[in-house]
Amino acid sequence: MADQTIDVLVIGAGQSGLAVGYYLRRTGLSFVLLDDQLEPGGAWPCAWDSLQLFSPAEANSLPGWLMPRPEDNGFPPRDAVTEYLTQYEHRYALPVQRPVRVTHVQAASTGFVVLTDHGTWHARAVVCATGSWRNPYVPSYPGQADFGGMQVHSSGYRNALPFAGKRVLVVGGANSGAQILAEVSRVARTRWVTEQEPRFLPDEVDGRVLFAQATQRYHAQQGTTKAPPPPSLGDVVMVDSVKEARRRGVLSSVRPFSRFIATGVVWPDGQEEDVDAVVWCTGFRPALAFLAGLGVVQADGRVATTNTRATALPGLWLVGYGNWTGFASATLIGVGRTARATAEEIRTWLLAPPDAAA
Ligand code: FAD
Repeated sequence: MADQTIDVLVIGAGQSGLAVGYYLRRTGLSFVLLDDQLEPGGAWPCAWDSLQLFSPAEANSLPGWLMPRPEDNGFPPRDAVTEYLTQYEHRYALPVQRPVRVTHVQAASTGFVVLTDHGTWHARAVVCATGSWRNPYVPSYPGQADFGGMQVHSSGYRNALPFAGKRVLVVGGANSGAQILAEVSRVARTRWVTEQEPRFLPDEVDGRVLFAQATQRYHAQQGTTKAPPPPSLGDVVMVDSVKEARRRGVLSSVRPFSRFIATGVVWPDGQEEDVDAVVWCTGFRPALAFLAGLGVVQADGRVATTNTRATALPGLWLVGYGNWTGFASATLIGVGRTARATAEEIRTWLLAPPDAAA
């Protein structure tokens, strides 16, 4: 690969990379997607066994092809999403090479040199679509290193079995926290630790409402509507397992502890509590370590962008990391819009005369 320069190299072939690939196919540019996993599906195969989308299949589709509905007509489980992404990749014959891990991206006169564990690539433009699953965030608490119990981030959680009979803190007040709490509390004594009181959506709505509300807020922000942004209805979607946890009375939460001790935690009122395990459902940061040498990654792990393009470095784009790389771009349904705009921007930029493209 060292001798050949391709037009566009996409790093990551999860839902974001595939959506970008879908639109790049239409541009006539040469491109390849590099992904470090053995199998298709991005982060989805790594999620916990019982993970279920919180809206129906058709509300979670990538451009071009609706996700098939599960036979029971319910919300798709984890493996159905993986299967959909696998078929999507084949359906559109997207040129994915795996497993190839990108280690460094360097700027060059012709664009970029991309170093990987399987050789070096040259590309005129680079799209980062590596998501955040590989970069879990765990907050730090005093005494954490002394704690002798088990600690696992939601990215490493598979099911409740290792927690059976234990005293477990589930930390984090969003959907992953609620779903993991619902599951672990069936076999363990749990306490749910959240910064604020969690905000539950009404039972009768699903994740589509979150998307619709975010859309309205986006338009209000852009000034494309005169309507004021709607008040938020809540964050936690009441999927069946979370409703069932509420019926069991385990869905109440407490504010964070002050520090760890070897055997557990100390609460703000000074009370000590023995704890066997902590499950951190505290989110993720962008997985962009391979950009370190370019000097564009900020302290918060993000890159300053204009739309999806790195503001300070022509030729570099970022897709799928959240609202800062395009409204709702970290969702299956939302990433298509920014993927399309990105492919179009890249095409225009690469076809522009060299001094205009500089
Ligand atoms: P990923 O899926 O992480 O794909 C990135 C790929 O790049 C991976 O294969 C990764 O291994 C690879 N990669 C990373 N670094 C490198 C490197 N250096 N070199 C090569 N390859 C690399 N989303 C929805 O749309 N609908 C939902 O209902 C929904 N529900 C969710 C529920 C929960 C509880 C959670 C936790 C998440 C949910 N999500 C949902 C969000 C979704 O899981 C992620 O946002 C999504 O996986 C992001 O896709 P991506 O393609 O950007 O990143």
